[in-house]
Amino acid sequence: MDRRMLIKRSALGLLGLGLAGCATPRAGLVTALDPTRRLVRVRASWDRVIRTTVGLRPYRPSGFVLRTSKLDDKTVIQNYGHGGSGMSLSWGTGEIAANMALEQGGRSAAVLGCGVVGLTTARQLQRRGFDVTIYAMSVPPDTTSNMSLASWTPTSGLVEADLRTTAWDEQFRKAATIAYRDLQLLVGRGYGISWLEGYSLNRSGPGDAAVSVPMRSPLLPGTLRTGATVLGPGEHPFPTPYVTRRSSLRIEPSIYLDALVRDVRMAGGTIVIRKFDSLRDIAELEELVVVNCTGLGSRELFGDDEITPVKGQLTHLMPQPEVGYSTFGSAMPTAGGFVHMQPRSDGIALGGTSVEGDWSMDVDEEARRRIVDAHVDLFSRMRTR
Ligand SMILES: Cc1cc2nc3c(=O)[nH]c(=O)nc-3n(C[C@H](O)[C@H](O)[C@H](O)COP(=O)(O)OP(=O)(O)OC[C@H]3O[C@@H](n4cnc5c(N)ncnc54)[C@H](O)[C@@H]3O)c2cc1C
Repeated sequence: MDRRMLIKRSALGLLGLGLAGCATPRAGLVTALDPTRRLVRVRASWDRVIRTTVGLRPYRPSGFVLRTSKLDDKTVIQNYGHGGSGMSLSWGTGEIAANMALEQGGRSAAVLGCGVVGLTTARQLQRRGFDVTIYAMSVPPDTTSNMSLASWTPTSGLVEADLRTTAWDEQFRKAATIAYRDLQLLVGRGYGISWLEGYSLNRSGPGDAAVSVPMRSPLLPGTLRTGATVLGPGEHPFPTPYVTRRSSLRIEPSIYLDALVRDVRMAGGTIVIRKFDSLRDIAELEELVVVNCTGLGSRELFGDDEITPVKGQLTHLMPQPEVGYSTFGSAMPTAGGFVHMQPRSDGIALGGTSVEGDWSMDVDEEARRRIVDAHVDLFSRMRTR
């Protein structure tokens, strides 16, 4: 239990404050609901469902690839394989890739791919004086990046612990640090990025593994491990005994990716719709520096058998601008696994699927039902005042 929480709980315990709560209260753990936070109930119901989207996360068990190689007279810089963390990390891996490009002669670069990794890499190159052309077979809104939930999740579905190397960890920490700063600097500037409080729903309280959340990952540099507050029975409106509250960055993919496309163009960049079938196609490009940001496309194009899809889907409810928080966890008995809710201006995104090795872009009806039903149940049992 952190010191602040201990003090708060002891003080309120001494004052004898408590509420008959949503779960069994423990002596000294019950405090008043925070009056400064009014959490509006999500109107979760089947008649508010507006669409379901599917995306394939580009996952490599040994983590993203960030290195330079040669293809004839060209320098090819690889920047792909960000798994469930690409929306979070791309400014960082893009900056490292752009600095690798600076070590080559010439200031003209081709970027392959127009998802979040390609677009942010293009911007990092432009900031360093490069003329950039993006080549891609699909552009927003038709990329995996557009199908993302897109919270700040820098370690989610990114790498297997036993396959990490010291050098990779170093690249990761550098990338995460750069990306966390760059995303923060875009808040409030029309990029669809904002701070949002998230509530992890837990059965158990402090000291239990159930309260640990991704931000505590030992992989993250200490400076990026943001604090969290654990709320006990009676301190929150959710139907689990405990919740962990933490502020995090939320990205709205459709706004963000369109803004990046605009920025690339405004800085003189060009976007060419083109599919690459082989390394020969790449070798024929006129640019001497090529940065590969094709995500899952790298499997065929560069023969990387390690990269594999992790299928995810989101079901969206009608927008509710008054909802200003997210929820996630597997503690609800009806959830049947991990589920999450995140509001955006274009809808309320509900998710909770990760299927490795599944290339199908079809909606999984069973998963859709489980996720929507879990949220209907969750919000029907949320207390409001
Ligand atoms: C449901 C879901 C939830 C997610 N949630 C989060 C989250 O909360 N936080 C987070 O950080 N990340 C999240 N992700 C992961 C994130 O979306 C990905 O890591 C990221 O979008 C990968 O970006 P990318 O640019 O590498 O790939 P893409 O967006 O797939 O872009 C690849 C580009 O390469 C092009 N391309 C590929 N092959 C070729 C070829 N042969 N020739 C020409 N062009 C080619 C494509 O057309 C496209 O333009 C989520 C993903 C999903 C599906």
